[in-house]
Amino acid sequence: MKKVHNARHGAEAHLIRGFLESHGIEAVVRGDLLAGGWGELPVDLCAVWISDDSRFEEADRLLRDFLKGAPAQFPGAAGWSCPGCGEAIEGQFTACWQCGRQRPPA
Ligand SMILES: [Zn+2]
Repeated sequence: MKKVHNARHGAEAHLIRGFLESHGIEAVVRGDLLAGGWGELPVDLCAVWISDDSRFEEADRLLRDFLKGAPAQFPGAAGWSCPGCGEAIEGQFTACWQCGRQRPPA
C-alpha cells in the first residue's frame, strides 16, 4: 500500500479514487485520523492509497495531471456550476468538490 494523495475531505478522496480506478489502478480511501502527529490538519482529512506499490509512479503522474486539470485527457469537457451550492467545477469532475452533488446531465 502506498499513499498517493492527501485529500481535504472525503468527497475529494472519493473522486480521486474513482479517477485512479478508471485507469485500472486499484485504490482505497482511508481516514488518516489514527496516524497521529497530524494535529493541525482538518479533522476530516482523508488519504487515497493504492494497493499495488509498483504502480505508484504511474498513479502519481496521472494524479498530477488530473489535479492540474489536464484538459487534453478530457476533450470537450466544459466546466459546470453545481446546482447544489453554486461552486464552479472543472469539466473533468463528475461531482461537486464542495457538497458532493453529482453533475447534472447536460
Ligand atoms: Zn456543490
